[in-house]
Amino acid sequence: AKRRAETTPEPFGRAVAGSRRFVVQLHAARRRHYDFRLEWDGVLKSWAVPKGPSPNPRDKRLAVRTEDHPLDYAGFEGVIPAGNYGAGAVIVWDRGRWTPLNDIEQGLEDGKLLFELGGFKLRGRWTRVKTRRGPQEWLLIKEQDGHVSEQGTEGYPPGSVLSGRTVEALAAGEDASAPLVARLRELDAPTRQ
Ligand code: MN
Repeated sequence: AKRRAETTPEPFGRAVAGSRRFVVQLHAARRRHYDFRLEWDGVLKSWAVPKGPSPNPRDKRLAVRTEDHPLDYAGFEGVIPAGNYGAGAVIVWDRGRWTPLNDIEQGLEDGKLLFELGGFKLRGRWTRVKTRRGPQEWLLIKEQDGHVSEQGTEGYPPGSVLSGRTVEALAAGEDASAPLVARLRELDAPTRQ
């Protein structure tokens, strides 16, 4: 009660009406792609976007609808071992909240979703429309607003928003904190159990 939301960036734990989680995971599977997941109806509605989201409204990115995933999956970053489905490294490339701007139930049925993203990388209004090519084929398109850019997916920082690691570093087993941990051991710094 002593803090004022207008003057401090601290979180206040308010639920934003109609806002839900989204996550985009970069998945270095046999075919590299971005898994774009929107929390809806207790699951993560999912699409695989081979080229990744682009902030350029002229880029219409193929987004293939995939299986719904459990909400817990939004925090997954790691390596899916060889021999398993989707084997390869996964980073949390972006995440945040999304806000539906149309009737999502109807939109999933009819093939048109309009929504706003509040992620670290992805911002502003986006649309996703079903094509006539196949029942699972959609297009992901940036809408005109203050968050457009001429750049493609490459214009976004490449690393994980959780760890800063690139998917290549994760796949190679590199741990960016290892040198710091080694130095702290040398200094005999206190450790937790
Ligand atoms: Mn995937």
